[in-house]
Amino acid sequence: MTKRKTASGNTPRQADIAVVGAGPSGMGMALLLARHGFRTALVAPAVAAADDRTTALLESSVEMLRSLKLWERIAPHTAPLEHMRIIDATGRLIRAPEVVFDASELDLPAFGYNIRNTDLNRELAEACASEPLLERIDARLDALEPGESGVTLSLSDGTTLSARLAIGADGRRSAVREAAGIAVSEWRYPQCALVLNLEHDVPHHGHSSEFHTPTGPFTLVPLKGRQSSLVWVQEPGEAERLHALDDDTLALEIERRAASILGRMRVLGKRQLYPLGGLTARTVAANRCALVGEAAHVFPPIGAQGLNLGLRDVAALGEILVAARRRGEDIGAPSVLAAYERARRPDIISRTTAVDLLNRSLLSELLPVQLLRGIGLYLAGRVPPLRRLLMREGIAPLMARPRLMRGLPLG
Ligand SMILES: Cc1cc2nc3c(=O)[nH]c(=O)nc-3n(C[C@H](O)[C@H](O)[C@H](O)COP(=O)(O)OP(=O)(O)OC[C@H]3O[C@@H](n4cnc5c(N)ncnc54)[C@H](O)[C@@H]3O)c2cc1C
Repeated sequence: MTKRKTASGNTPRQADIAVVGAGPSGMGMALLLARHGFRTALVAPAVAAADDRTTALLESSVEMLRSLKLWERIAPHTAPLEHMRIIDATGRLIRAPEVVFDASELDLPAFGYNIRNTDLNRELAEACASEPLLERIDARLDALEPGESGVTLSLSDGTTLSARLAIGADGRRSAVREAAGIAVSEWRYPQCALVLNLEHDVPHHGHSSEFHTPTGPFTLVPLKGRQSSLVWVQEPGEAERLHALDDDTLALEIERRAASILGRMRVLGKRQLYPLGGLTARTVAANRCALVGEAAHVFPPIGAQGLNLGLRDVAALGEILVAARRRGEDIGAPSVLAAYERARRPDIISRTTAVDLLNRSLLSELLPVQLLRGIGLYLAGRVPPLRRLLMREGIAPLMARPRLMRGLPLG
């Protein structure tokens, strides 16, 4: 990045691209850009608290991390997800049979790999720190002004930063999105997720287990060793009751809900509550700003889709920007932003809709809805081509796999 003194004595910084927010989407975006020759500023305040959640990085995201030479440093902290089990625990009249998917059916060692967000974020932050074309500015974005040929960002430490394009990776309350004038659709579900990590007596053998209950999924995902992460979607009052229990009583309730498949359990670390909701930005790019990750879309933590969708934004935007530069185009031009919107809209809509339908089908008391769900799961269990299609599409839609997720360079 270059700096030059202004008459006021202020020192504006200049970058090709300013990425705002250092969650996993923002750091992934900044690394991709810097490694492809863009002078990149990552505007991000130091992280205040550890993120105890875990993320299942699905195979396509792993492929992208491999392409960016990041996987070697992330892999040691992960546990493979070799099998996925769906158990109908609704107790309703119409119940689906248990379905188990094996990654080996797709000739893959694993569907993906689960990692604690603290480990993922630390590894990405260390990679950012040693990237020559990437400068991290430890400040918040206060204001952003889009102009004819670039954007001007005012930061909380008094810095002024100018860039040709700003990328909002600043999460669900995105300031970049607001400054770009991008409206959102937002909704809530009558559910809350209790999230925590566990140690257990019985090994998980790479099984991720999703119990479908009438209040939402109860999902155990393997961590390294005899540990798993839990996302337990509940009616809000019940989630709060569980959250307030002492460790031993809570562990017993979890073991009971899990039908003791992992034996005796112990709660590790702190528990968190996440009210369930969704958000979709009306467009992912406007006024020299582009959005990635939860700045563009939020949905419930069901099916390990959120960050995987966010990393597809990152890979697609990177591909479009590298191609635009190769053609000698302005990387913040409306035509470039429109290409990004076209590339991402179908994937965002289809994932948001699929997660919404799956969640609502569990909550529905309507017999026809339960019947459809049951038939769907029955067919998924019995019809091999359908099984393979569901497994492949669950990892990432074939039609929306950017080059980096197919192991292809951006050029
Ligand atoms: C319980 C739970 C489990 C989940 N499990 C999975 C999973 O298994 N697989 C999966 O793919 N997804 C999962 N998700 C979703 C995933 O966690 C999110 O998609 C992901 O964390 C979003 O990352 P992000 O970088 O887009 O946003 P964030 O992680 O929210 O990062 C945004 C960053 O922007 C910063 N910021 C905000 N405002 C400003 C500003 N003005 N200036 C500068 N910086 C700013 C914030 O401090 C933050 O660091 C889960 C979600 C939950 C709630």
